[in-house]
Amino acid sequence: MNQTIKELSDLLARGEASSAELCQDYLARIERLNPRLNAFITVDPDKTLEEARAADARRARGEAGPLTGVPVAHKDIFCAEGWPATCGSRMLADFVSPYDAHVISRFKAAGMPSLGKTNMDEFAMGSSNETSFFGAVRNPWDERAVPGGSSGGSAAAVAARMAPAATGTDTGGSIRQPAALTGITGLKPTYGVVSRYGMIAFASSLDQAGPMAPSAEDCALLMNVMAGFDARDSTSLERPAEDYARDLDRPLKGLRIGLPREFFGAGLAADVGQAVEAALAVYRRLGAETVEVGLPNSGLSVPVYYVLAPAEASSNLSRYDGVRYGYRAAAYADLTDMYERTRAEGFGAEVKRRIMIGTYVLSHGYYDAYYLQAQKIRRLIAQDFAEAFKACDVILGPTAPTTAFDLGAKTADPVQMYLSDIYTIAVNLAGLPGMSLPCGFGADHRPVGLQIVGDWFGEARMLNVAHQYQLATDWHRRMPEGL
Ligand code: GLN
Repeated sequence: MNQTIKELSDLLARGEASSAELCQDYLARIERLNPRLNAFITVDPDKTLEEARAADARRARGEAGPLTGVPVAHKDIFCAEGWPATCGSRMLADFVSPYDAHVISRFKAAGMPSLGKTNMDEFAMGSSNETSFFGAVRNPWDERAVPGGSSGGSAAAVAARMAPAATGTDTGGSIRQPAALTGITGLKPTYGVVSRYGMIAFASSLDQAGPMAPSAEDCALLMNVMAGFDARDSTSLERPAEDYARDLDRPLKGLRIGLPREFFGAGLAADVGQAVEAALAVYRRLGAETVEVGLPNSGLSVPVYYVLAPAEASSNLSRYDGVRYGYRAAAYADLTDMYERTRAEGFGAEVKRRIMIGTYVLSHGYYDAYYLQAQKIRRLIAQDFAEAFKACDVILGPTAPTTAFDLGAKTADPVQMYLSDIYTIAVNLAGLPGMSLPCGFGADHRPVGLQIVGDWFGEARMLNVAHQYQLATDWHRRMPEGL
């Protein structure tokens, strides 16, 4: 089962397997492993196999595209017609989507069957997948550990090869941090490259969907499916179509790697730092040079994010009122009581915390002091990156400050949980593309992720930098033992 997307697509093209056979294999693995890992919220083998047979028929007609028949799992934040879309919340536990998200329709157009909907932190708020109404996900490398979040189900599914690839979303790190903690490759595109239509909103100025898979080459192929203009998302960018795999083979000689001094200071666990240093040594052998850069305002990224993201969330989540769709309290006295009970019962503790913070920072008298200040610092953080990219082509560093922590270790202390994203959040605030790829293991034998940050629209270059590393190393080929 340890095949990349590229290898599966070659297998299908040579006629050595059908999509229905591949899907059956993955479904059997999901059935066996999901009771332990809880990576999927919904599986529907009949639906998956129907899509697989349609892909096989399309191939028989000679109409297959590069990934036709390759199955993929979707984070349960994406609306897919006829499938539940719970967003990890009691609020949407019984919601079945009547339409497809843009991302889902792109996968359908490519002929890629869905293996099901993956578990996630409630409304994508979390860094450990422990806020899900459907229970925590376990890390396939060590079932005592969290898989990271919020795309923890997608990450665990790919790490355990219950799916060859999965979609994720990243508002402050939710693709990259779980990819790092589970030893897979994940990419968050430049803001606006992938349409947010049909992707349940958390913080709209930060949310961006992207691929999670074993390798960078896989992520490039998946980006070719996912990216593209969509008039239904007002922040979708109208740009010429790109082949994200076009630069994969480019040699790295002369590449300038920027190392932000702020990403290598106190707070970085020694074993994570060592694995990242070892990766930098590989890059130097490949002909790259490293330069120190500064991101002086990046230390403010977590506080800024925890003003802006809750502000946007409090507004986005006002739509869950028990009237339009989703959960409604069973008994209530009048309309106001119905709203209050519905929201008190339908949302979990972390979501309520965010709604309260967001409402507070947007309220009269505090708007200028918090929200507006945070917007200004957001601009300074973006300017820091623009300055840094004058001296380098990509920025490298750790994805997360530690390897995967134990279940329950940070649930009592939200600020400790928020600090898991200390190296990823600035990238969202600036709208830049970023990715994480496996680069070794910590002292606890849990995976370490290397983060690459690209310039705006620098996905192809970033994928090139990741792919060349993966040609020289085999971390992305490792799989948890005994699964
Ligand atoms: N962990 C961060 C949060 O809780 C980021 C989540 C995300 O990227 N969706 O908000």
